[in-house]
Amino acid sequence: MSNNVIEMIVEIPKGSSNKYEYDSLTGRISLDRVLYGANFYPGEYGFIENTLDWDGDPLDVISLVTYPTLPGVAVKVRILGSIKMIDNGEIDTKLFGVFNDDPRFATYQKLEDVPQHLKDEIENFFLQYKALQKKSVRIDGWGDLKHAQQEIKECQERYKKYEKQLAKPNGKEEIMAEWKAKGLGQA
Ligand SMILES: [Mg+2]
Repeated sequence: MSNNVIEMIVEIPKGSSNKYEYDSLTGRISLDRVLYGANFYPGEYGFIENTLDWDGDPLDVISLVTYPTLPGVAVKVRILGSIKMIDNGEIDTKLFGVFNDDPRFATYQKLEDVPQHLKDEIENFFLQYKALQKKSVRIDGWGDLKHAQQEIKECQERYKKYEKQLAKPNGKEEIMAEWKAKGLGQA
């Protein structure tokens, strides 16, 4: 990460109601599910390679975008902050940023530069998008750039620690079971 710019791999382009997910074991992008309600992603959604968050997946990113890209595309995102999301009791932080190579976002250099409504829209999306699945999502506010950078660092270190285990067919399940037993990553 140079300054606050980091590469995200896009899974879901803005406007999609299909939740695509990258599978690191097969290298394929597959359809996890179609969102149950009439909801669509309000930004480009993806992850940072070589990271591991408490939900057993790479660290998630949602980025503002003018023109949606495609699943699998690598994009440089200027990270501005984070969304402290708790998904069904599991810590599932989302980093938030803008496309670094889109001049339309040149004036968005910190979280306060982003219009409040755009942040409200993203927050509302995550609070709503699992409602028809009867799953609860909580947001404990937004974090600043420092929080986001700390999150990246921790997820990179966690990945290094579990990298070998993750590469095994049931590795993720074993790691998650271990964490659950220890009460790690719960909120
Ligand atoms: Mg996640």
